[in-house]
Amino acid sequence: MNATVPSSAAANVPSCHLLWPQGLEDLLGDGDIEAFQSPIDIPLATLPSIPTTQPLEFDFQSCQWREFNNGYAIQAVPVTVDGVDKPGGGGSFSVGDITYRVVEFHFHTPSEHTFDGRSTTMELHIVGLSPANTISVVGVPLEIHESASGLASLFAPVPAEVATAINVLRLATQINLADIVPTKVAVARYVGSRTTPPYDRGVLWNVLLTPVAISSIEATVLGRTYQADNRPVQPFCDRPIAVDTTAGQLT
Ligand SMILES: [Zn+2]
Repeated sequence: MNATVPSSAAANVPSCHLLWPQGLEDLLGDGDIEAFQSPIDIPLATLPSIPTTQPLEFDFQSCQWREFNNGYAIQAVPVTVDGVDKPGGGGSFSVGDITYRVVEFHFHTPSEHTFDGRSTTMELHIVGLSPANTISVVGVPLEIHESASGLASLFAPVPAEVATAINVLRLATQINLADIVPTKVAVARYVGSRTTPPYDRGVLWNVLLTPVAISSIEATVLGRTYQADNRPVQPFCDRPIAVDTTAGQLT
């Protein structure tokens, strides 16, 4: 697999995909893009890959966030100091020539993506929106490690009212995603969907292949509302995966 996309397949790409990052056209493959759902199992041992020259780059900024329970997960959106929504206030990430401003982040327990069939403790999803309103998500697997300390000072315990009721709001302290997400790890990139209704398609996924350590306390706090809010892995559908190792090697 992973051969060059036939021109006939490219011609069938829906118009929303015409704004795809340059150099990543091969990720659209020659399969049924509408069937490409997320999450998937990422077969590390036999990772089918196509080369990419379009690195994932972060430009995160410190920002205040509003936390709320959206019915599926505890979600955080960037806001001004006055509590007004500020999409992109937490910065952006880019893939190739397209920049995605961060519009929200949230967690799943356990991870939604699996790696050789194995879940990690949690998964952080950073959702970005391009100027053309196309979606890309950075998936960060989180694994409990007793020596972890980096996240403890960033996340205040999710208060009881947020944990138990939908749409109860709370302003969080300043968080910079750059303090959470490492830049020196390999990334698997593929085309899929959002994993909660309405399962928007044509989402460009970037899944870090090395877990970030969290403490057991952080996992308990962040995961106590939803202990099983992970969508099951979806059929692979023989889709291409690009492996971006410009920032790090496969481990
Ligand atoms: Zn998610």
